[in-house]
Amino acid sequence: MNEDLKNIPSKVNLEIFDINNFSKDKIRDLFRSGKVPTAEVMIDEILLRSIKAEATDLHFEPTDNELRIRYGSEGVLKRLVSLPKDIADNLSSVIKTKAGLNAFEKKKPQEGRFSLTLGNHQFDIRVSTIPVMAGERFALRILAKSNRVANLEELGFSAENFERIRKIINKPIGLFLVTGPSNSGKSTTIYASVNDIQSPEKNIITVENPVEYKLDYASQVQPSTDKSFTYVDALRAILRQNPNVIMLGEIRDAETGIVAAEAALYGNLVLSTILSNDAVGAILRLLSLGVPTYWVASSLIGVVHQQLVRKICPDCKEEYKPTDQELARFNASFPEPAKFYHGKGCDQCKGTGYHGRTAIHEILCINDQIRDLIYLNSSMLTIKETARSLGFENIYEDAVKKLRNGITTIQEIQRAFG
Ligand SMILES: [Zn+2]
Repeated sequence: MNEDLKNIPSKVNLEIFDINNFSKDKIRDLFRSGKVPTAEVMIDEILLRSIKAEATDLHFEPTDNELRIRYGSEGVLKRLVSLPKDIADNLSSVIKTKAGLNAFEKKKPQEGRFSLTLGNHQFDIRVSTIPVMAGERFALRILAKSNRVANLEELGFSAENFERIRKIINKPIGLFLVTGPSNSGKSTTIYASVNDIQSPEKNIITVENPVEYKLDYASQVQPSTDKSFTYVDALRAILRQNPNVIMLGEIRDAETGIVAAEAALYGNLVLSTILSNDAVGAILRLLSLGVPTYWVASSLIGVVHQQLVRKICPDCKEEYKPTDQELARFNASFPEPAKFYHGKGCDQCKGTGYHGRTAIHEILCINDQIRDLIYLNSSMLTIKETARSLGFENIYEDAVKKLRNGITTIQEIQRAFG
């Protein structure tokens, strides 16, 4: 993390309000004394601490006795503080006001966002609320606004996969999709792909809300959140602007799916993301959204499916012998690596043994044979088997490669695949 963020001092000693540290009576006395920070200052402190811990999400969870606050860092949740339940309402109102939500509505889910500046850094905070038995649960997604788009080389593609994705995105025409669960780095891959193929001769237009990175070589369209200017309106207008490359934030319904496929058939390279459990699943997802078979078969050129795993901390990495139990859970159908590594925990990684994350991938390249199978509405299994015979490697195999290369651990792979 950047030094200047680390150096921002804490303003509130949250620990003295933690019901795990002090009795409720003692904390109540503290509140009675009046010498407590305002709810706004408390929220600022919670956000500051989460960002310093490199959190990507933050959860406010009311239970019968407490307001538990946890942050997610590198895909794992950690408890930040457990506050007395009495102050939950005040904290909720502050978040709701910041995010432009209705503070009086507590019975229905709401969504909103706000911007946060810390030092020289800007963050986009997306807020969602849901009523639960003991009050309202808040989840905040923390997105660092950065002007630097990652290079494709930095995203952890194996040599074979790097060649595959390069081959797909260098095609002038077609629909290219990146899939994966939420928070799996899909948009990072899409941006890096656009970055990789951009050139002054190409007309590149992006459609997304909100715009995550500003690109100086592209025109970026941000449809409105209400229905007055939709993704489909934007895409239709873009087609009249003679583009070469269109980046679309996400395909989430039949209409955007059809227009994206149509745009690809008009002679554009269209890059987008979609939710699915594996690369072949993206085909099923498009079909089940209601995109006609013909559009899917004729436009799709490739699908990247990805997930994130934590990387072993380079400062405390060591070879070790896994227990029989660990090995037993390791999928026996793959040859076992000769050596295993883990991080034994050090100051640099706060004892976790991990530092940073990398992606694991599977890449489906659509050739004529697979295109035919899609036209014929073949089963996913048939498509998978055919892809396999053509050299497709699944995401688990890529994970094992990363295990073999000492990048990640057995535990991380088990966490990713169960
Ligand atoms: Zn370490």
